[in-house]
Order: sequence, then structure tokens, then C-alpha cells
Amino acid sequence: MACRYCNSEEWKSASLVYREGISDIRSNTRAHGLGVGTSGIGLGVGGAKTRGYQQSMLSKAASPPRRGFALALFLAGIAILFTLGAASGSNFPLFDLIIVILCTLGIFYSYQREKRRYDAATAVYAATRVCQRCGQFYRDPYRSKMRSNGVIIRAAELRECSLS
Ligand SMILES: [Zn+2]
Repeated sequence: MACRYCNSEEWKSASLVYREGISDIRSNTRAHGLGVGTSGIGLGVGGAKTRGYQQSMLSKAASPPRRGFALALFLAGIAILFTLGAASGSNFPLFDLIIVILCTLGIFYSYQREKRRYDAATAVYAATRVCQRCGQFYRDPYRSKMRSNGVIIRAAELRECSLS
């Protein structure tokens, strides 16, 4: 199918767009450094201009989903604090124990929940395509559902979407 905005029929996967957006900037930085080298005296100043890690806007938009375990880490911190409290002869060891058990259950629950969210987001990401001319994101809803069956989906079934 053709992109509805620019009529292009060239597509790339979101993961390829993401990786290319990083390597392009790196090669630009290298080329810049060589160009500065011929000018002699301005060498150090020119080189500093493109220092550091950069990424194109499109590559950022095509970033893969990330795992988030902030809640689990927070609960683990509380559990450790109350374990230390109970071990140091607290006045309320039963209360400490209950808190530790609740935190442990919370860690398990939040880990499972985050894993389900991440797996679903990864399947959707794998089914995301980017128009090569205008950068519009499209998602293949059928493939994201049927991925485990290995079904190959025609581009005509791609739907427009955006990555948040
Ligand atoms: Zn397009």
C-alpha cells in the first residue's frame, strides 16, 4: 500500500529506523572531525561542537518499549528497611514482618504486571512500520495479534498510528 500522506511505498520497521537514527549521527560526528582537521588552528574548538551522544527526532519517536521496574525497586527498598528494623530488635517485630510480606507480594504482582505490559508493547512495536518519505508511523493490527502464528501480513492491512 502507499502512504496516505505522501504516496510513498517504501517502508522500514520501527526498530531499523531507531538504530539508523543513532548511527547516522555518529558518522556525521566523525566526518565533521576530519573536516576540522584540515583547518589546523581551529581544531580543538571545532571538534567540541558535535561532541556527545545524539539521536535523530524520528529515531527517538521509533524507540522500542522499555521495562519499568521503579515500583518493584521502591517496594524492595522498603522491605529491606523493615527487615533491618526487625533484625535490630524493633518494638513491633510482627508489624515489621507484615510490612515485609506485603512488600514482597507487591513486588511479585508489579513484576508480573510490568512483564505483561512490556510483552504486549513489544509485540505492537514489532508490527510498527515507518514511511520512508514522510516518517508517518503505521501499525499492522492483525500481525500484532497473530504474531505467534508466524502469519505474514500484507502491507495493505497496515493502519496509521503514532508512537507515544
Ligand atoms: Zn509518507
